Amino acid sequence: EASIHLDVQVARLGSRYVLVLAEDRTDAYRLEETRRDFIANISHELKTPIGAISLLAEALEPASDDPDQVRRFAKQMGTEAIRLSQITREIIELSRLQATDILASAKRIDLDEIVASAVDQNHVVADARRMTLAVGGAKHVAVMGDEALLTLALNNLISNALQYSPDGSRIGIGVHHDEGVVELVVTDQGIGIPEEDLPRVFERFFRVDQARSRNTGGTGLGLSIVKHVVQNHGGDIRAWSQVGQGSTFTIRLPEAVKAKAAAQGDKR
Ligand code: ADP
Repeated sequence: EASIHLDVQVARLGSRYVLVLAEDRTDAYRLEETRRDFIANISHELKTPIGAISLLAEALEPASDDPDQVRRFAKQMGTEAIRLSQITREIIELSRLQATDILASAKRIDLDEIVASAVDQNHVVADARRMTLAVGGAKHVAVMGDEALLTLALNNLISNALQYSPDGSRIGIGVHHDEGVVELVVTDQGIGIPEEDLPRVFERFFRVDQARSRNTGGTGLGLSIVKHVVQNHGGDIRAWSQVGQGSTFTIRLPEAVKAKAAAQGDKR
């Protein structure tokens, strides 16, 4: 785990040059490194669809006599443009998240509402593919936080579950709570994630199979957004999976204390 970062500089002492090696283990250094990686990744991710769009635009002109070709190129350009806007939107969401202090604007939120709106946002896709979104578990469990962001997080988990599962399968969405901890669990019967990739799925731009998820339009940002949202709410997220059987993602958040001091014997 431990690593050493060497800051290498050439300094001039009179007519001589000396090499200065300084060990830099500060948080600032690591932050800067993360930021550089992120920007390198973003540039790469943006260059791919932009490059495709330019190539297709160049290919359109010589193909102008062939309507089938023109239609095909135009359709591909549309697909790449959608991908580009999806990546851009998610990058903006992610950077906004990193700059937000959730606790400053936190409100008491009933998880039933989050679950209902996340399910609502996915039911058209689920219905079209004859998939069931089965909601269960505790009612009226509350957390402190930002409703839109928590909905976004759950929405990302549900849309992944849909994306990586076969038609007709079932997705479970459950709310549990125990001793001040709230759990939001999303379970699918999908393709699963290989054990060696599981720890990496929350990294930005990570995809289990680049080609496979590119076909299904993934950006590799969804789960890193979920992780940021959950961490900003003082919680954590874990994943379990079995290839060919399915995956389970569990968000854990601190439970909000009861609005009115609960009287003894109040069982709610
Ligand atoms: P993407 O936009 O590619 O879905 P995510 O960050 O949401 O990006 O997920 C990262 C990768 O983790 C995905 O590309 C996919 O390979 C894998 N993954 C995420 N959720 C699931 C799931 N429910 N079942 C199987 N694989 C998943």
